[in-house]
Amino acid sequence: MRRIYADNAATTAVSREVLDAMLPYFCESYGNPSSLHAVGREAKKALDAARATVAAALNCDANEIYFTSCGSESDNWAIRGGAHSKKGKKHIITTKIEHHAALHACKALEKEGYEVTYVGVDENGYVDPADVAAAMREDTALVSVMMANNEIGTIQPIKEIAEIAHNGGALMFTDAVQAVGNIPVDVKELGVDMLALSGHKIHAPKGIGALYCKKGVRPDVLIEGGGQERGRRGGTEALASIVGLAKAAEIANAELSEMDKVAALRDKLIDGILERIPYSRLNGGRSPRLPGNVNVAFEFIEGESLLLLLDMEGICASTGSACSSNSLEPSHVLLATGLPVEKAHGSLRLSISKDTTEEDVDYILEKLPPIVQRLREMSPLYEEVAKNSK
Ligand SMILES: *Cc1c(COP(=O)(O)O)cnc(C)c1O
Repeated sequence: MRRIYADNAATTAVSREVLDAMLPYFCESYGNPSSLHAVGREAKKALDAARATVAAALNCDANEIYFTSCGSESDNWAIRGGAHSKKGKKHIITTKIEHHAALHACKALEKEGYEVTYVGVDENGYVDPADVAAAMREDTALVSVMMANNEIGTIQPIKEIAEIAHNGGALMFTDAVQAVGNIPVDVKELGVDMLALSGHKIHAPKGIGALYCKKGVRPDVLIEGGGQERGRRGGTEALASIVGLAKAAEIANAELSEMDKVAALRDKLIDGILERIPYSRLNGGRSPRLPGNVNVAFEFIEGESLLLLLDMEGICASTGSACSSNSLEPSHVLLATGLPVEKAHGSLRLSISKDTTEEDVDYILEKLPPIVQRLREMSPLYEEVAKNSK
């Protein structure tokens, strides 16, 4: 059976080039970068090169890059460390649509005595910088706003928000896990102090991430250890994964223009779905939107049943974010856009990538409408509507 992977916002396939770049670092160049002998020096050289590559991709210096174990770790470190580094300031501004890694890190700081303002979004899922400005206080330590949303694909005006944060003397952090590799990400252009990214969202393996920390910004030590990551995060470096992350970042930047093709397929998918399926609505604004993100609410159905039937046709999709998919809580992101609970439950996310073809999109457009129709025919609510419209 045909299989179409349309869940790239949850994770991506490791690309062949990335795997090939990593392989020598398992059985051949397996050294510990801290060792002084030849094998260690070889590893250190690869580590330095990888750090320089990631830095180049983000337009910063190599010594502003810290490798972490994942995007969640980078988010946690930036938020906790960023807040702590502004001694005496006890207020944080974030948004209602952040990834749970960032949102829960803020919640944890509330228990430490911080006050957090959760700025809302409009019905299209965009943050208004004026709302951030209005929330700023004397004691605001940190502003944390994600660059692109993992569920509805909306891209936020980070540059403007960073200016507001800095004018008020606060640090600016952005979770750019979904942005990197999909849209241009330049830390200088954005003017942010910290930025998080994750390997497995950009065709590198799971279990590797990075945090950009502008020179002079010093989040507290995350892991006490042997002095790795300039003494701030101990632990022998995951060299193969780091090399993989660097390769993936390099490829993503070199191939950024290919994202126009992905965006064209996204638009075909969105238009096709909205045309073919009545009582459907796009979640998240059209523009600016991640090139691979489609998220549609279908009235009168449950997203879970929709996923199962799509899976039977070989289509892998998602209802909300993978993190909330094992709970029955409706997505906090969709609710923040004002979508009522029932409609949030009937939402489908399709996230495509460079590997998605036009045939894949045609296949989804062929299979999805009859499935939605079948599910609606089992819905008493829909029956009423169908009867009244006759
Ligand atoms: C996936 C994701 C994360 C978490 O990254 P992991 O590497 O899976 O921990 C954080 N933020 C956003 C926006 C994400 O999409």
